[in-house]
Amino acid sequence: RRLVVGIKLSDREHTAVLVDFAGNLIAGEAIPRSPGAMALEGILDAAERLLDRVCAKGGVSRDRVEALGLGVPGFVDCDSGVVHWSPILSSRHVPLQDALRARLGRTVFVDNDANLVTLAELWFGAGRRLSDFAVVTIEHGLGMGFVINHRIYRGARGMGMELGHTKVQLDGALCRCGQRGCLEAYVADYALVREAQTALNLPLGEMQSVGVMLESLFDHAKAGNAAARSIFRRAGRYLAVGLSNIVNLFDPALIILSGERMRYDYLYASETLSEMHAMMLDTGRDAPQIETHAWGDLLWAHGAAALALHELTEQLLGPS
Ligand code: BGC
Ligand code: ZN
Repeated sequence: RRLVVGIKLSDREHTAVLVDFAGNLIAGEAIPRSPGAMALEGILDAAERLLDRVCAKGGVSRDRVEALGLGVPGFVDCDSGVVHWSPILSSRHVPLQDALRARLGRTVFVDNDANLVTLAELWFGAGRRLSDFAVVTIEHGLGMGFVINHRIYRGARGMGMELGHTKVQLDGALCRCGQRGCLEAYVADYALVREAQTALNLPLGEMQSVGVMLESLFDHAKAGNAAARSIFRRAGRYLAVGLSNIVNLFDPALIILSGERMRYDYLYASETLSEMHAMMLDTGRDAPQIETHAWGDLLWAHGAAALALHELTEQLLGPS
């Protein structure tokens, strides 16, 4: 069987899948990591280790893998494979695709992580029956992929649809991209934890991971702590701003809310949805369908494998 590998790199863990040319999953592997930005060498090492581990798990030699798709968070020019900014890379404008091709000696395609989970929805998930839909990912960052007319929309320079960095506040909260007032800086995990640390006297030690701190904040909210609740409520209101902006700009049939944070149902609670409805233009149309998918990183990695399959096929067919 001919094979490809898909990899998703993130702040929390790295994930890889081994897939055949029909897109069937043969093996999957996840390696936890400590958060923080890495130098290019660290990323190359991680990708190589994942490739070896997932091949070992699938019982095949690494030489059988014809191509590799890689998803990273951040601003990825998917034509050139240059990563202009990523929370997991310590420098900007990194030619990741070329560097990984040189390291592994095989075909590599790099794309934005949210685009890849969207591709997975388009190929294997809820998007199979739709021409136009959005996937909004809410975890440590806030990402989006958008399918327009059955294709992922990337913009003229391969980097469009960065919902997380649309501005919702002048001179607002500091975002991890370096700018202020980005939607992500009000909705993403790190934003909530940052607020919890300043607004509440919670036992959120510096040594704990953002995930653990978020869980603790959620426990406080469930137990009725008003300050913790208001942090989630505010995030829900900002999310409603983002969702209504998507609707007013693009009018998708479906918005999929995806990512680890879907475990916390306040995000798509009735308040957030009615706030979204209140901000939608009165055009007489129905609100888009909202679905929530709590699938983990394997799905994103599967999307990375789908990218490799898609690009290999395009190369075979040649320029149209
Ligand atoms: C990045 C996006 C990414 C999202 C989810 C955001 O901070 O800007 O590119 O898709 O996080 O990882
Ligand atoms: Zn930003």
